[in-house]
Amino acid sequence: MSESGPEKDAWEKIAQILRRAVPRQQFETWFRGMRLIRLGPERVELSVPNNFLREWIYRKYFGVLRRALREVSGGDPEILIHIAEEGADSPPAREAFRPRAPVPPPAPRQPPRRSPAFGESDVVINPQYTFDNFVPGPSNNFAYAAALAVADSPGKSYNPLFLHGSVGLGKTHLLQAVCHQLVDRRTDMRILYLSCETFTNHFVTAVANGELDSFRYRYRHVDVLLIDDIHFLANRERTQEEFFHTFNTLYNANKQIILSSDSNPAEIPTLEERLVSRFKWGIVARIDLPVYETRLAIIARKVAMHGVTFPDDVVRFLAESVRSNIRELEGAVNRLAGMAHIYQRPVNMEMTRTALRDIVPPTPHRVSVDSIVRTVAEHFGVPVRDLMGKRRTKSIAYPRQICMFLARRLTPHSLEEIGGYFGGRDYTTVMYAFDKIRRAVKEDADLSQTLQQLTSRLKSS
Ligand code: ADP
Ligand code: MG
Repeated sequence: MSESGPEKDAWEKIAQILRRAVPRQQFETWFRGMRLIRLGPERVELSVPNNFLREWIYRKYFGVLRRALREVSGGDPEILIHIAEEGADSPPAREAFRPRAPVPPPAPRQPPRRSPAFGESDVVINPQYTFDNFVPGPSNNFAYAAALAVADSPGKSYNPLFLHGSVGLGKTHLLQAVCHQLVDRRTDMRILYLSCETFTNHFVTAVANGELDSFRYRYRHVDVLLIDDIHFLANRERTQEEFFHTFNTLYNANKQIILSSDSNPAEIPTLEERLVSRFKWGIVARIDLPVYETRLAIIARKVAMHGVTFPDDVVRFLAESVRSNIRELEGAVNRLAGMAHIYQRPVNMEMTRTALRDIVPPTPHRVSVDSIVRTVAEHFGVPVRDLMGKRRTKSIAYPRQICMFLARRLTPHSLEEIGGYFGGRDYTTVMYAFDKIRRAVKEDADLSQTLQQLTSRLKSS
């Protein structure tokens, strides 16, 4: 293409309009490096030298640019702004329109957490939601590993990554951990993290204001798109339709898509089949309720973040009492840490029971694994520590099996949870112990009496 080709003339006209629309200095700064690659009634393709310029034009000058392009093209074309590849592989057509003006100012390096790469300024990225602060365990290992893999090589390992689980189990934490890691390692990536509600609201506004172009530009020109709580697409037909196209565009360009939801794709009500099937193309990872050991570890982590310590019985009490929601567990830790600070006193059990009465209703007759261990230890004259530890000598293994049996009978904990309590043992070990004691009771009158005694002591304490 020659210097006097149609694009060159068209660009001249567009530049003229832009010059009239913005102050000279601004034109020089923002539009000097822009080139027109293709001008058609359906689509206009432009390029700018770097991401920063593109982002800036997109944010501040998109309206001006669109008006100019409408005027020159005589239609309402879709606008695509590419980043010009400097160097050998630039096609000649682009070379033809390289401006002779000086290169625009280099993009200022911005602190990662405030980078526009995260998208809207109303999106809150929690600085603590990092991989480092995430405690893996059997309930979330798969999701954790998948998120790490995706953060390591976005668009190349699993696409899309679909995380699901009930509320408060770490979905948002993992999504944001991916953001942190990408920003820390690859500042050039365009990352867009937002809630499904924000996506929906943007779409509705874009439709109402006739700004679908810029909406599409915004969502289809990213390297990584993370949408939290995608189940909000339920009952939103038009947004689903739009998201379908967003998904396809990104997927086909090998861009990474990461979604979270409160249920697996097939269970999101009224979600179109074609979306359900796409959501399953990559990896679907479920996050379950954390087991006892993971809860202990999470509490330890959160307590340490407050720079305080809680006694072991308090930590165990928390881990036993708050089981279905890590956010609640965290709330309990925060409240206790706050009280310790206000009263200038170390946390103890009494304070804990009082502070958490609303979260953990006092249940005098509920038997805890903790009390089982203490009661059995006392009865057999063995140390509590050994019962919960790894030692396998018979003098310890037998009372430990009795603990497991009682825990299974008297508490609502799962086999996995009981195993976790006793030195991280497998659930099959608990099953074996339970079965062994259950059978032995039938033939051993002494054992039967012992168990009755222990049980009534536990229930009355
Ligand atoms: P969801 O998005 O699934 O509702 P969040 O990601 O908001 O849940 O998690 C709720 C809280 O629990 C957050 O403060 C988060 O840091 C914490 N949390 C969840 N899972 C873990 C974990 N495995 N390790 C540490 N903190 C966790
Ligand atoms: Mg969430």
